[in-house]
Amino acid sequence: MRHGSIPGVHGRVRPLRLLGDPVLHAPCEEVTEFGPELAALVEDLFATMYAAHGVGLAANQIGEPLRVFVYDCPDDEDVRHLGHVVNPRLVEAGGVELRGPEGCLSLPGLEAGTERYDEAVVEGFTADGERVRVRGTGFFARCLQHECDHLEGGVYADRLTGWRRRRVLRQAAKAPWARRETAPRPEAV
Ligand SMILES: [Zn+2]
Repeated sequence: MRHGSIPGVHGRVRPLRLLGDPVLHAPCEEVTEFGPELAALVEDLFATMYAAHGVGLAANQIGEPLRVFVYDCPDDEDVRHLGHVVNPRLVEAGGVELRGPEGCLSLPGLEAGTERYDEAVVEGFTADGERVRVRGTGFFARCLQHECDHLEGGVYADRLTGWRRRRVLRQAAKAPWARRETAPRPEAV
């Protein structure tokens, strides 16, 4: 984002893809064209993230299988981090591993204690093709790891084990937004 512009103001709020949608469960492709379409995608990501009150959003969550994510996320010291990364690579993840509450706009309303490293460094590019390096700690480090997972085709539920995993998958299956193969409900017929 250029200095002075408000991210997302030119963007379009797009429908969120939800758990079970194939685009969320496959690795995204590298961005090779740094042009106006990419800038528009970043704007749509910001607009959609803000509309959904999220702190981060990956491109496949709006159905675009490209390696891009945006964030507007506080860390544990309440410092705000705002930006986007194209073709991000998680180059460092370290410090202590902490289990903390984690949610996702693709599993709306759900949350589970998920283990993440307390420090993370992501390298990549801006939509203008400039190199960028983003370092996060605490909740922002969690966000960076979460978004990088999305671009690999992962969601936080994939990182859970045991009862935590069973519980969140059970809740997801019962959620109003769950993808169902069954016939429409009687009142809808
Ligand atoms: Zn997510």
